[in-house]
Amino acid sequence: MTSRRSNIIGGRDVASEQWTPNVNPSDTSDVIAEYAHGSSSDAEEAVGAARDALSGWAFASPQQRADVLDRGANEVIRRADELGELLAREEGKTLPEARGEVLRAGQILKYHGGQALRNAGEIIDSVRPGLEVTMTREPLGVVSVITPWNFPIAIPAWKIAPALAYGNTVVFKPAELVPGCAWEQADILRRAGLPEGVLNLVMGTGREVGPVLTGSADVDGVSFTGSVTTGEGILATTTPHRTRVQLEMGGKNPLVVLDDADLDVAVDVALQGAFGATGQRCTASSRLVVTDGIHDRFVAALTDAMQAWRVGDARDDGTQMGPVVNASQLEQDERYLAVARDEGGEVRGGERLKRPTAGHYLAPALVVGTTNTMTVNRDEVFGPVAAVIRVADFEEALAVANDTEFGLSSGIVTRSLAAASHFRRHSTAGMVMVNVPTAGVDYHVPFGGRRASSCGPREQGSYARDFFTVVKTSYVAPGSP
Ligand code: NAD
Repeated sequence: MTSRRSNIIGGRDVASEQWTPNVNPSDTSDVIAEYAHGSSSDAEEAVGAARDALSGWAFASPQQRADVLDRGANEVIRRADELGELLAREEGKTLPEARGEVLRAGQILKYHGGQALRNAGEIIDSVRPGLEVTMTREPLGVVSVITPWNFPIAIPAWKIAPALAYGNTVVFKPAELVPGCAWEQADILRRAGLPEGVLNLVMGTGREVGPVLTGSADVDGVSFTGSVTTGEGILATTTPHRTRVQLEMGGKNPLVVLDDADLDVAVDVALQGAFGATGQRCTASSRLVVTDGIHDRFVAALTDAMQAWRVGDARDDGTQMGPVVNASQLEQDERYLAVARDEGGEVRGGERLKRPTAGHYLAPALVVGTTNTMTVNRDEVFGPVAAVIRVADFEEALAVANDTEFGLSSGIVTRSLAAASHFRRHSTAGMVMVNVPTAGVDYHVPFGGRRASSCGPREQGSYARDFFTVVKTSYVAPGSP
């Protein structure tokens, strides 16, 4: 019989009336387990539990918070093989990618455990003689954490860990497609010593659970990662209560390849950036902006490299690219390829692949001969699809790179320090990469974008504190008893 995992509310397992099977995208006959399909009343109960637990946790010793996160981190790291296997099985990343993501989650929990002990304030002389002014950081309050399916353990970790480190309580809603890693992480932190109600897990659909988590007057902040459409909806539901929001949304990230680039480096950076994790990353290099002198050599070499990649079961040895996450995402990828053809692009690869198991397999696709106004270069496809835009020179490349409604990550491959420096200064993305893929970031530095990609304070590293705390300014009169 298929096992079941309940929601975790107020520290207890709470069963639901309906259950959702968690299906392996590499083999759709493989059901990992059934997970609770939470309702709006589960969400209300979870918000209430988080509210009840808030003052205890907000005033808990930072040592207690640090210890819980550190113990949780140690368990995540110790179980990296097992959790990596679960992640690959539920999301479709290759085992090395999945294990790497689990280790990253462990490092994030550890880092923010340390940050709990570094929540220093400031002190300054008042402009009024003798007065002392202090600025301290207090927890924001009850925070809803809403996450997408493409990083099932790392994205929840980089929201939940700073939330807890700074004394907030959390209601966590993972994406419907990946409840497995979410449940494990919540359970690990529960057993690591979190008081009841400090971290609550409500699995279910955004449609049913989302309105409570974003619209309740008892929620002080919403940290969301997902699509632009959902993010804009959340902006609307949070406004009536002036709830603080942090929205990380889509990307249409350019990788510029200049004539002077090392061809091998350029091909590797493009391959990893465009097709790593099956291209299902907000930081994926989906627009390859290539100058005239290297264009043909680059496209030929990238086509060969891409076609040599082994696409298969995420957990098989030697698989370089796993399946697309589900049938509707696969259909979306194919629709965008059809539109790219209709608009005059030449599609290389991108065919459905048959494998021994029934999974959502798609060959990596490169669309050649595109312009920046074509749909494939405007919309986020969120699959193993990259398009090549030929440009005359660096100046045009920079203009094309910046011509997008998004602004998450951008990259350049060049041997010119002058070009790299100019690009770093003039790119309008939140993160800029020189001779490394647009995807792949460190956890101890800020993460985020501009324009439609992000809204609100940056995530990750010490900058995470800006969202998860509120500043209090206190004035103390001289000689106060
Ligand atoms: P999505 O917007 O469909 O869902 C994200 C989360 O929001 C899920 O948990 C979903 O259940 C929930 N949700 C849906 N409707 C909701 C509602 N009305 N109220 C509250 N919550 C609701 O996104 P997805 O398909 O899971 O993920 C893919 C998207 O995520 C892509 O656009 C990608 O670019 C983006 N993404 C962005 C980043 C980043 O940091 N910028 C990182 C990863 C993914």
